[in-house]
Amino acid sequence: MSSDCLFCRIVKGEIPATIVHETETTTAFRDISPQAPTHVVLVPKLHSPDAVSLVKAAPGVLDDLFRAAGEVAEAEGLGTGYRLLFNTGEDAGQTVFHAHLHLLGGRKLGALA
Ligand code: C5P
Repeated sequence: MSSDCLFCRIVKGEIPATIVHETETTTAFRDISPQAPTHVVLVPKLHSPDAVSLVKAAPGVLDDLFRAAGEVAEAEGLGTGYRLLFNTGEDAGQTVFHAHLHLLGGRKLGALA
């Protein structure tokens, strides 16, 4: 945990967020600036700056994130499809440097840029 990391602070409950799912290793909350009818951010409780660093530090946690994403998608009724993505690094548009998986769905999604 890092005291100046936004997502660590959400995980600790120091910053409010609409939590939709929680497991031993993962917290999932609604994105404050949703890009689709369902836009949930899934974050590992363990701090790591991006997904590739996370898989090196704690590979099993990535499995947990994807499992949790499937559970959220099912709970949100996204049976016709949804998108899972990790922005990794500044050029990809990553703005919060705590690994996180975006889950987007609830409408037809366009091609990736
Ligand atoms: O992949 P990226 O780093 O750009 O994603 C960060 C995401 O975290 C953004 O979609 C942003 O809207 C979201 N966010 C949030 N709650 C905050 C701050 C950022 O849901 N308090």
